[in-house]
Amino acid sequence: MFSSFRGGIHPPENKHITEGMAFSNLVIPKTCYIPMQQHIGAPARPIVKVGDIVEEGQLIGEATGFVSANVHASVPGKVVDIAETLTVYQKQPTVIIEAEGAFTSSHAARDDRKIEDITAEEILVKIRSAGIVGLGGAAFPTSVKLSPPSETAIDTLIVNGAECEPYLTVDDMLMHTFPSQIIEGIQITLKALGIKKAIVGVENNKIGAVKVLQKALLEVKPREDISVKALRTKYPQGAEKQLIYTLTGKEVPSRGLPMDVGIVVQNIGTVFAIREAVLFDKPLFERYITVSGKMINKPGNYKVRIGTRISEIVEDCGGLKGDPAKIIIGGPMCGLSVHSMDIPVVKGTSGILFLSRDEVNIGDFSPCIRCGKCVAACPMGLLPCDLGTAVENNRFDLANNLNPSDCIMCGSCSYSCPANRPLSHFIKLAQERIKQKK
Ligand code: SF4
Ligand code: SF4
Repeated sequence: MFSSFRGGIHPPENKHITEGMAFSNLVIPKTCYIPMQQHIGAPARPIVKVGDIVEEGQLIGEATGFVSANVHASVPGKVVDIAETLTVYQKQPTVIIEAEGAFTSSHAARDDRKIEDITAEEILVKIRSAGIVGLGGAAFPTSVKLSPPSETAIDTLIVNGAECEPYLTVDDMLMHTFPSQIIEGIQITLKALGIKKAIVGVENNKIGAVKVLQKALLEVKPREDISVKALRTKYPQGAEKQLIYTLTGKEVPSRGLPMDVGIVVQNIGTVFAIREAVLFDKPLFERYITVSGKMINKPGNYKVRIGTRISEIVEDCGGLKGDPAKIIIGGPMCGLSVHSMDIPVVKGTSGILFLSRDEVNIGDFSPCIRCGKCVAACPMGLLPCDLGTAVENNRFDLANNLNPSDCIMCGSCSYSCPANRPLSHFIKLAQERIKQKK
């Protein structure tokens, strides 16, 4: 293992709020709001109409291209509307289902074949059919990630259990609760890729999860070469390029992908969902999340149906202690701040944070004092200060020369800046402006 990637920061972890809290089920929502675009790529096309009765897990939105994902009903019930509603990304077509009737599809029956008897093609079909996407937050369709071009030689699967975002403990709890299932998910993913080697990377602030997985490996005795490595706790250890470097010493080229260095990365939650899709034919209609922050009465780790609105989750978690200064979907570093509790949980929602005034930084920003702290923090070797100043002065031509597309939006620069400059937001603006010009 290689010591560490360059840069990075050590924000307060705040994982103690939910650390070690076993999963419990959030209440089934009376009404589910299921967006047709919960993934990177083309939106799904609704294939139900108002008035239709659907079963739990029934296909309601069909993938519309190679890079797209199926969408399924999270509850049995009646389609009462298909309308544009507010989601974490934007307003978009949403199938609205009022829950009624019985939960008939438990997905409890296991395919009793051995993993080695299931073909790679069958695994990919099942993953695509189940609408599996990256559950770490990126929501890239998993079947696409597991289908690299034939000329690309993949030799290693990296399983991302770093969970470097503060507050989030959902992956930690998945590793503690389902270690042997995660190993099975890894074996299935290896089979799909036609390779034998996997490395699970877990930050050493979750050493209990490392031990649980290593113990499960000793018990399962997989034929494949699967190892679990404890990594130094440093944000953004879980970013793909940084994780690859730490575990293998390989550097993914600028604008390149992990597959360019023979690697595919999947999140812990994703390999768990892959196992459920392949062995139980279970579509992705529910997921595990962390609900945390000082402003929620009952923080914890929960299983929740996709399409449950934040307002229902708040109610089920004992309500709020007052008005949160910020509500964030995901972690505080890379997550999205939202202003409505009508937004539903989607496949990529790893957590919901209800933060108090003292947990967030909302002050004004001032001019750059050239201290260089953002440069030292940047894991991509960029010059966030200069990028920020260029964007602030509308000099997108100058910004373009500073490789903004290499930015992974980790927020380490903004976090480090004593002038409170919203550097990653500036860089996002530069990325969007450059994309528009192409
Ligand atoms: S410039 Fe981008 S990659 Fe570098 S620290 Fe800022 S947000 Fe992270
Ligand atoms: S950290 Fe802030 S003040 Fe310091 S160089 Fe970067 S932008 Fe300027």
